[in-house]
Parts: sequence; structure tokens; C-alpha cells
Amino acid sequence: MGRGYHGPMKYDHDLIVIGGGSGGIATARRAAEYGARVALVEAGRLGGTCVNVGCVPKKLMWNAAEFVGAASDARGYGFDIALHGHDWARLKAVRDAYVLRLNGIYESNLAKSKVTLLRGWGSLVDAHTVTVGDTQLTGERIVLAPGGRPHRPKIAGAELGIDSDGFFELAQRPQRVTVVGGGYIAVEIAGVFAALGSQVTMVVRGATLLREFDPLLIEAAHEGLANAGARVITHATPTELVKTPLGISVHLKGGECLEQQDCVIFATGRDPITDFIGAGLHLRRDERGFIEVDEFQQTSVPGVFALGDVTGQYTLTPVAIAAGRRLADRIWGGMEGRRLDYQNIPTVVFGHPPLGTVGLTEPQALAQHGDAVKCFTSNFVPMYHALTEAKHRTRMKLVTVGPERRVVGVHLAGRDVAEMLQGFAVAVRMGATKRDFDDTVAIHPTAAEELVTMR
Ligand code: NDP
Repeated sequence: MGRGYHGPMKYDHDLIVIGGGSGGIATARRAAEYGARVALVEAGRLGGTCVNVGCVPKKLMWNAAEFVGAASDARGYGFDIALHGHDWARLKAVRDAYVLRLNGIYESNLAKSKVTLLRGWGSLVDAHTVTVGDTQLTGERIVLAPGGRPHRPKIAGAELGIDSDGFFELAQRPQRVTVVGGGYIAVEIAGVFAALGSQVTMVVRGATLLREFDPLLIEAAHEGLANAGARVITHATPTELVKTPLGISVHLKGGECLEQQDCVIFATGRDPITDFIGAGLHLRRDERGFIEVDEFQQTSVPGVFALGDVTGQYTLTPVAIAAGRRLADRIWGGMEGRRLDYQNIPTVVFGHPPLGTVGLTEPQALAQHGDAVKCFTSNFVPMYHALTEAKHRTRMKLVTVGPERRVVGVHLAGRDVAEMLQGFAVAVRMGATKRDFDDTVAIHPTAAEELVTMR
């Protein structure tokens, strides 16, 4: 705490942060704790995408969806249990109230850390100047953490659909839903709707869902959605949405039409928010508009840094937080060279089943290491399902490289894997070998023990 950093007094602030999401708040607070004079600018609700229209409300919806399977599984354990419907509106009300509470906690935490909060849309005028309405601020350094917003394909009738922000505004559960896209958000939203009883069709332009994931997880995602009754149409792109008296018609390239849809959700990626950057500032961006940064989050303009979704690098909340805290440690905390290592970042898609991954997929490992790759897999029904009617499988894969069999990838699909992966990610980061896994005594009876007993 408080090394008492004091920057040059020619600026009102040592740091101005644009964006009050996870990354911006983490950077601002860490810098302020080192004694930096920090201002943070945010126009919307504090907490950004994650807290308001992402991870947090999504996980609550995922939890809700899990109860459907749990209730039916409970019968296998002797419970006389039946679900009498689901009150979506009530769930939305309690979920929104929880998020509102978090907004308040974020605000009071900023005050506790002595970060000055400015409410409004910040404009970056030059490398040291930000305006918010009529107020002008100057800063020795500026961190851009404005995040992103959903991308919608430019097709006729696109405005008839909604995006993931709109998903969280739905007052009632739609019965017939089309989800366009096959990435993280598409799989998570489709899973929630299918579990809660909607008739879901996914429209995916590629050959599979989650095409960058390990094939084991792709297989599990397809199987999980099929088990829940969702239909996945691959090699398909919507060309037009048309409003009819009975709902929305989704026309697909090739002629098929999905009729009478109550809701169409575009989960077709996210764009960076960069429209606050002054025209005179030559901040380098890539062809998709993401702000380019070096390994220290430094943009092409000295003194201006960027992190989180606006950089397009692993657009995950904990990545933005980690990058921001390390940046503050380095600049205001005196920790020379400190930066985020973007390798071996674990992540989970909260589908049904959840899919966890860290490190290289098998195809990536083969491309990099060829014959030196050896994979170990396990595919089993966990003991939880011994007594249940449903027999959902758990799948695991270890990707190893070289004669020492260094574990370079762990891929998990199934019950509880979201809670399993974190510890194994530590092992992968530390360079653990298959032998280290084997030499670790199993915890019995668990599903995780399979990871240390694979042959
Ligand atoms: P993703 O990149 O995961 O998926 C985007 C999907 O949209 C892909 O299937 C892509 O197809 C498809 N797509 C893109 N453009 C079009 C188009 N014009 N027409 C049809 N399909 C299209 O992005 P998401 O928006 O799902 O998620 C954004 C990021 O947020 C994720 O990458 C992840 O980092 C993060 N996230 C993390 C979560 C978690 O940690 N659990 C949850 C949700 C989001 P194709 O594959 O062919 O390009």
C-alpha cells in the first residue's frame, strides 16, 4: 500500500482511466493505492460488460438452468420432486437487484481507494487531455479501458433481432428462439434457453460451434445442445429477417427459412468502442478496429495505454483485471518489467455442459510440435450420474509434448469442470509434466481424479 507516488504537478492527475469496467476499475484502484492521483471516467453503469451484461448475470442464468437437470437428477436419489414452471420475470428482478447492488459496491470501492469518479462520456483529445462534458482533465498517463459492444451483421431486418445486451432485458422467456453465431455467447445463451424449455435453433456459419476449441470440447458442446433439444444448423448464414403476424422469419442463405421465431439473438462477436478517440490522435488500430498495444499495454502514442476488450487480446474479464493491475504495479508500484503473460490463460464456456480449457488444443500442439505431441483422454459417466436417469458424460484431454511429456493443454467438458480447471491451470503454468500429474495422489471419489490417473 501507498508508496506515495507523486507525478509531475503540471497535470491534474497522474492517471486518467477511460472506462469503469473490470479492467479500468482494477487499474485505477491499484494505481491509487500506490499514491497516484487517479480519475476514472464512465458514462454507464459501473462494472462494465461483466457485471451488467456479461459474466455476472450470465452465470446467474446458467445457475438457474442447472436446476432443471438437478431436479430431475434428484429423483434418482429418492426425492419425489417436480418443477412447477419457472418464473423468468421473478428471476430477472432478483438478478437485476443483485447487479444493482454490485454497481453500488464498485462505486464505494472507488471512493475507498480515493479514485475520483467522473460521470459522463470521456473524449480523448490528446495524449494528456480528456474532456467529460465541459470538464477538462489532464493526466500524465491515460489508460483506455472502454470495452466493446455487440456486433450485428448488416443484413436486412437485423433490427428485428436483439443481442446479448437485449438478452438481459427480456422480460419473459421467448418460446422459439434463433441464436446466430457459434461462439462463447451463442453457446451460453442457447444453453440457458434450451434448459429452461425454449425451442432453440442455432445458426452457425462455420462447420462447428466454438471452432477454435479442442475437438473434444466441440463434440461435447454439440452433444450437450442436442441432448437439450436444440438444433444446430452449420454452414448457415442469415440473409434477412422479416416480421410476420406470427413472429420473425429468419431467411438463410441456400433457401431455408426459420418461421415464427419469437426472438432472434445475434451473438456474432463484439466490436471495440473507440469513438471517443480524438481524430487528431494517431492511435494505431488493427483492421477490425482493436487498439494495438505492446506487451506492456503501451499504445502507439507514448503515455497512452490500453487494456481489456478494446485491445481484442483474450477478451476476458480476469485478463483485463490482471493486465491493469500489473500495469499499475509497474508504473506506480515500482515493479520493473511487470506485465501480463498472455500464455496459458484458462477459460470456461458456461454451456451445458461447461467447457474448460487452458493451453494448446491438440491441433495447435500438432501444428507447433508435430510428432512430439501425445494426448491422453478420458470419457466417462461420473459417479453423480450412477443413480440418475440422465447419464451425461465427462470428457477430459491432456495434451503433452516431448519426451518429458510436459502438459501444454488441459481440456475438460462436463459437470463441475469450471471448478476443476483453476488449479490445473496453475500446474500447466508451472510447466508440470504428465509424471507430476501421475505422482499426485487422487482424491476419491471425484471426477477430477481422472486427471491424475490417465494412462
Ligand atoms: P466469439 O468470437 O466467441 O464468437 C463469435 C461467433 O459469431 C463466432 O461463431 C463467429 O463465427 C460468429 N460470427 C461473427 N460474425 C458473424 C457474421 N457476420 N455472421 C454470422 N456469424 C458470425 O464472440 P462472442 O461474441 O460469443 O464472445 C466475445 C468474447 O467474449 C469471447 O471471445 C470471449 O472472449 C468473451 N466471453 C467469455 C465468456 C466466458 O468467459 N465464459 C462468456 C462470453 C463471452 P466464426 O467462428 O466463423 O468466426
